[in-house]
Formats: sequence, structure tokens, C-alpha cells
Amino acid sequence: MRLATLLLVNQTQFEPVTDADREVIAEQLGRPPRALRAVAARCPGGHPAVVQTSPRLEDGTPFPTLYYLTCPRLASLVGKLEAQGVMREMTERLGSDPGLAAAYQRAHESYLAQRDAIEPLGHQVTAGGMPGRVKCLHVHLAHTLACGPGVNPIGDETLELVRAEGWPSGDCAADFPQ
Ligand SMILES: [Zn+2]
Repeated sequence: MRLATLLLVNQTQFEPVTDADREVIAEQLGRPPRALRAVAARCPGGHPAVVQTSPRLEDGTPFPTLYYLTCPRLASLVGKLEAQGVMREMTERLGSDPGLAAAYQRAHESYLAQRDAIEPLGHQVTAGGMPGRVKCLHVHLAHTLACGPGVNPIGDETLELVRAEGWPSGDCAADFPQ
């Protein structure tokens, strides 16, 4: 019963993918998107920023990453942060800040519960290094943009950092002429 409720929430929480979205996402990724379930977040300018994907690809291959960052501008900004060594510093703080570690553990559990509600993969590996390490900021930013602030502390920090780098700007910004 509880599972059915969760499934319903997950199916109605995000926007279904339109044909136009699918075309934009293919351009963003440079390949046809796989296992798309929904558009989970958009940049203020309107294009998809995060998609929710199925726990398995169409051919059955497990795809543990539930939220995937598709906006190229965001992906590029996050790549620059990663190149600056931000993940190592965050991982070190997980070891020295129990409050942060606890919040990150809850982010892992929430991610897993949402994925299990769609289709359990039979293991508890989530994504991005959760719950013990920070291995991919794209995953964490996607999680924060999809689920809102207060769910994933590392994603929340990453969002602050990309805002400090100027996002949203260009066609990510709401005032970009369409
Ligand atoms: Zn964007």
C-alpha cells in the first residue's frame, strides 16, 4: 500500500517528457536520451536541466543514477568546479562534520527510496559517491534541482557554487529572448 502511494507520487511529481523536450535533450547530450521518465527540473529559460531516468535501460542494464543533469551550461560549470578539487574538500568535510555526514546519509536514503519505488535494483548503491564520499557533483546538483533544497547538502552547496559562477545566464536565464 505504501509502495503504491510512493509510486503514484513519483509518477505525478515531475512533468512527462514531450517530443520537443526529447529533441532538446538529444541535442544537449549529443545522443538520443535513454530510459527517460520525466523532466525533473528546468533552467529558468525553460529547457530541461535534469531528467529522471528509469533504474534500468530499455535493454535491462541497470542505470543507478535516477537524476541526470542535461543542461550543457550547468554541466560545464560543474565540470570546472570538479577540476578545482571541490569534491576532495567536500569528502574531507564529511569526515569532520557529523551534521553534514548525517544529512548526506539521509540524502542517500531518500535517493534510494525514490529509486526503489520505481524499480528496486536489489542493491543499495546510489550515485555520486553517496553516502561516504563525494565523487560526482553533476549527480548531486541534479538531485538538488529535482528535489529542492534541504534534501542533499552537497547538491545544495554545488548549486550555490554554480550560482556564484553566474548561472543562470545566457539561454539558461529567464530573460533570454526565445
Ligand atoms: Zn540551462
